[in-house]
Amino acid sequence: MRKVCVMEGDGIGKEVIPEALKVLKELGDFEIIKGDVGLECLKKYGTALPDETIEKAKEADVILFGAITSPKPNEVKNYKSPIITLRRMFDLYANVRPINNFGVGELIGRLNNYEFLKVKDVDLVIIRENTEGLYVGREKILEDDIAISERIITRKGSERIIRFAFEYAKRNNRKKVSCIHKANVLRVSDGLFLKIFNEIKEKYNNIKADDFLVDSTAMNLIKYPEKFDVIVTTNLFGDILSDEASVLIGGLGLAPSANIGGKKALFEPVHGSAPDIAGKGIANPMASILSVAMLFDYMGEKEKGDIIREAVKQCIINKKTTPDLGGNLKTVEVGDEIVRYIRKRI
Ligand code: NAD
Ligand code: MN
Repeated sequence: MRKVCVMEGDGIGKEVIPEALKVLKELGDFEIIKGDVGLECLKKYGTALPDETIEKAKEADVILFGAITSPKPNEVKNYKSPIITLRRMFDLYANVRPINNFGVGELIGRLNNYEFLKVKDVDLVIIRENTEGLYVGREKILEDDIAISERIITRKGSERIIRFAFEYAKRNNRKKVSCIHKANVLRVSDGLFLKIFNEIKEKYNNIKADDFLVDSTAMNLIKYPEKFDVIVTTNLFGDILSDEASVLIGGLGLAPSANIGGKKALFEPVHGSAPDIAGKGIANPMASILSVAMLFDYMGEKEKGDIIREAVKQCIINKKTTPDLGGNLKTVEVGDEIVRYIRKRI
């Protein structure tokens, strides 16, 4: 039987992943192996990512990850983020982050009293390079007062993520790939990224290609989201732009992601452990449930992914949502509602 390694992590990770598991079990037959990860795990066992969890992840076909809390800077010596370690360990080089409001943007705006959300439907995908850039962990202190973080951009890393973005566009009938960079200042590193983008785009005649600076993109994503289709970018920019873009669809509660490599994949909500709402039972489980939809897509069962996306859409239309989307349901109730809509469909 196919194996899923499930890591709930900290904070709302422990609240949203059980709901995602309900949906996973409703639609698929998987052996579920649970692994400890995160700050609580570090306090209990002295490591945020135990060897035992790594072994379980190796054994599994796919990983479902919740969210973890990071210790404060300098609180833990030599701390390495488990999620960054997992991405690098399994070479999960492509982080795919769809930003989609299922055509109910106006409704979400109304539910939320967000004027700016009342107008637009949004459907774009951010493809973030996931193994290099500023996240390689090469940081050092020189003479106490100078801190250096190295940003690594390689031809190999850039070629494969840019090719991935164009192949993704081709497969999903998308019309355009935009390269987002800061090559006007980071002339060497982003200069290389952009140069490789310009080489690769020539091989995809049917897909439009353009490129923009990351700072003006931060503005244009909010002002003209319809100008974007597939975005390909480096690690840090992709991290920041995806949280920003989630605002267009009502927030992080609706932003799922897939971390894809050659042999394995990890699925997780874009959000973190949300300590401000953890323990209250009000976290939106939809981002995690939509990550399960991406898991089914990856497994070649896109029809199941579509059923999940439709169930989430029905929940929003019928105002069965947590407070972040303007509703008054609890995390568990939203999970139950989604399962109910799934049962109606199949
Ligand atoms: P966050 O994503 O946890 O929360 C940002 C804001 O969005 C908060 O106000 C939160 O309440 C809200 N939010 C997030 N998810 C939500 C959901 N499902 N439903 C409703 N509201 C939701 O970011 P943060 O507060 O900057 O970080 C908190 C902790 O999470 C930090 O320790 C950070 O390092 C960690 N983090 C972990 C991951 C990960 O595990 N992959 C990602 C990002 C942040
Ligand atoms: Mn992030």
